[in-house]
Amino acid sequence: MKAMRLLEFGGRLELRELDPPSAGDGVLVKVVAAGVCHTDIHVVSGAYDLGNGNLLKMVDRGIHLPMTPGHEIAGEVVELGAHNGKTTVQEGDRVVVFPWIGCGTCRKCLAGFENLCEVKPASLGIFQDGGYAEYVYVPHPRYLIPAAGLRAEEAAPLGCSGLTAYSALNKCRLDTEELLVIIGAGGLGTTAIQLASRTTSARIVALDIDDGKLKLASSLGADQTINTKVLSKKDVVDAIKKENKGRGADAVIDFVGSPATSELGFEALTKQGRLVLVGLFGGAASFPLPLFPLRGAQATGSFTGTLTELSELVQLAASGVVRPVVSGRYSLEEANDVLEKLARGEIAGRALLRPY
Ligand SMILES: [Zn+2]
Ligand SMILES: [Zn+2]
Repeated sequence: MKAMRLLEFGGRLELRELDPPSAGDGVLVKVVAAGVCHTDIHVVSGAYDLGNGNLLKMVDRGIHLPMTPGHEIAGEVVELGAHNGKTTVQEGDRVVVFPWIGCGTCRKCLAGFENLCEVKPASLGIFQDGGYAEYVYVPHPRYLIPAAGLRAEEAAPLGCSGLTAYSALNKCRLDTEELLVIIGAGGLGTTAIQLASRTTSARIVALDIDDGKLKLASSLGADQTINTKVLSKKDVVDAIKKENKGRGADAVIDFVGSPATSELGFEALTKQGRLVLVGLFGGAASFPLPLFPLRGAQATGSFTGTLTELSELVQLAASGVVRPVVSGRYSLEEANDVLEKLARGEIAGRALLRPY
C-alpha cells in the first residue's frame, strides 16, 4: 500500500510502498479520507515551541520514526480479524476512527480519558502509524464509531478538529445567553461556531485576522466578527464588551494558542469567565496574576476529547447539527504541499487527503 512516511523530524514526508498491516488483534480499516491537521505540522517539525527558547521535542514525548502521520481518519472496515461477529461493527461499515488511544489501564484511561493517558499514549498518526496511507491498523473495534449516514469527507474531520471543538465547547459550560468568544475561525473555530450556535443560546463573537474566514464564521452562526489584525488589544476587548452590555466574555476558546491570543482571551473575560486554551501555536504568555482571583477567572487546557464525546459528536453530525467545512481534496502525494499551505494559514476549513 502507499503511505506518506515521516523518516526524520524536520524533513519532508516521503511516499513509500509498504505491506498493508494485518488485522491481527485489531482491525484493518481502508482510509477513504484523512484530514490534515495543524498538529501534523508540529509532529513533522519535531517539536512544540514552549516559549523562552524552550522546545518540547517529539522524541522526548516518545514518538519514534519512521511513522505515518494522520489522525483524522474516516474509512471502511476491511478486516475485523478475531473480533468478527463479536462486535457491533461489521466488515464494510463506514466508520470514524477515534485516534486518541491510551494504554487502557492507567487511571485516566479507565476513567474514559484515553486522550490524556498518563502512562503510554498510543495515538494513531503520532505514536503509531496513522491515516496518510491506503490502510490503517486500529488496535480494537471499540475505537470505531459507525458513521453510515455521513460521507467520509464529512466524517474524517470529526476525529480531531470536530472532537477538539466539541470538547472545548463542553468545557465552557455555557449558561443561558452568555457571551462566547471564539479566537481563530479556521477548521476548529468554524466547527465550534456551528455547534455553539445550534446547541446553546450563547451569543457568539468570532475573532480572526482574515476577512474571508470571518465571513465564513458569520455564515455558520457567529453573531459578530472582529478582524483583530489592525486593532489594539484594548480596542478588541472594548468591542467584545460592547457585545455583552459592557461586561466581558463569559467564555473564550483560544484555538490559536499564541502569547497574543491567550493574553487577549484572558483580558476579555468578565467575572467568573472561562478561558479554554486549545491551540498549540506555541510560546509563553504573561497574565496579570491578581486579575485571576479578582475576577474569579478560570483557565483550562483542552486536548482533543474522549471516545464518548466522539460518539456524541458523530450523532450530532449525522443529524445535521455540524458539517465540517472541507476546503480541498488532495492525493497522498500532495501531503507536503498541503502541510505547507496550512502552515501559511491558506486553508479555510479542512483539507483532506484521499488515498484512492
Ligand atoms: Zn488534529
Ligand atoms: Zn493510559
